[in-house]
Amino acid sequence: MAKTSSKANSNTHPLHINTLAVREAVERSQYGENSEALYLTSSFVQPDAATAARRFAGEEEGYIYSRFTNPTVVSMERRLAALEGTEACIATSSGMAAILTMCLGLLKAGDHVVCSQSVFGSTIKLIASEMGKFGVQSTFVAQTDLAQWQNAIRPNTKILFAETPTNPLTEVCDIKALADMAHKAGAWLAVDNCFCSPALQRPVELGADLIIHSGTKYLDGQGRVLAGAICCPQKMIDESFMPLMRSAGMSLSPFNAWVVLKGLETLAIRMQAQSASALDLATWLEQHPKVARVYYPGLVSHPQHELAMRQQSGCGGAVLSFDVVGGAESGGGPAQARTNAFAVIDATQVMSITANLGDTKTTITHPASTSHGRLTEVQRQAAGIGQGLIRVAVGLEHLDDLKSDLRRGLDTLP
Ligand SMILES: *Cc1c(COP(=O)(O)O)cnc(C)c1O
Repeated sequence: MAKTSSKANSNTHPLHINTLAVREAVERSQYGENSEALYLTSSFVQPDAATAARRFAGEEEGYIYSRFTNPTVVSMERRLAALEGTEACIATSSGMAAILTMCLGLLKAGDHVVCSQSVFGSTIKLIASEMGKFGVQSTFVAQTDLAQWQNAIRPNTKILFAETPTNPLTEVCDIKALADMAHKAGAWLAVDNCFCSPALQRPVELGADLIIHSGTKYLDGQGRVLAGAICCPQKMIDESFMPLMRSAGMSLSPFNAWVVLKGLETLAIRMQAQSASALDLATWLEQHPKVARVYYPGLVSHPQHELAMRQQSGCGGAVLSFDVVGGAESGGGPAQARTNAFAVIDATQVMSITANLGDTKTTITHPASTSHGRLTEVQRQAAGIGQGLIRVAVGLEHLDDLKSDLRRGLDTLP
């Protein structure tokens, strides 16, 4: 990979993370652009045949072909690595491509993965079914039960995979405890940091070895592109991920990298503003008579509230969920709970009914019939995803408009 030093990087004193979020990038081109250039090119012209030969052989740095090196993509990688506090980063075409890259780069047939059963649904399918086809073994454990994680570890365990907080119930696991457990077993801890982003949580400081990102969410922050990344030691990229990327090509397009690069400049202030609104909304919902329960790490009622506050810069994040009344708690059943949840969702006029999150536009969704719709009712019950559950990923609209939007449906529930 081309290593070009930027002004931000060569400063005599270490810069603050918020400065790096705006400044870290490859050096400017000869035109002196202030906003980083978008190098929308598939390949790079070599000055002569001998230089080309040296670059292809890895004896000289220089850009060759955008499947494995592109200056815009490198800028995004360097900026994200600076934010996460890791040595390096490798960008991928989506969040799932990042997890695939991790699996293909670090695992072989006969290796074992321990993973939380509450992680993103496609992650479970990828690790259990797709990697299972190639002889990778996996065990899924309860997110917050450290004894289950410990008991699942085998001599061939290579990776512990966690995501915190989870979607949609915002369950929080103890990154430091899992990192210690992984290292004692000679395994790596990978953390999907999608919900908090490095603005609120830096898993590497708690001992995690790899940080996984869906750049599609808060890193872009405006719901425009798919992107992904792994933040990890340089050695892991050089030995495992870069050779894989060169052969397999789950590369991030320069255009999408540029969008994420610009998104990172506003990440911290977006996360703070959206989390503050989420806390206000969660507090308000908890007092609403038509709301049975609210799931949000920033609330004292959250089972892992203290851990979340310690681990997430005192912040709950921008995603919350709540159960509307009408379910078992009020003598109803799943059908009534679902009718009520649909009524609240359909009464919104501002929020977008869509399963994406991490956008400046607030999104609202019914997990039981969308993201978790492929589970059986029994599996859903076990996962705690009831028919009355609604997830809201809070954006940047005015809080009063968001409250009115939810009040419209809630106030009319039976
Ligand atoms: C969306 C998401 C992913 C997958 O990311 P894509 O960019 O959609 O491939 C992985 N993990 C979490 C927690 C997510 O929310």
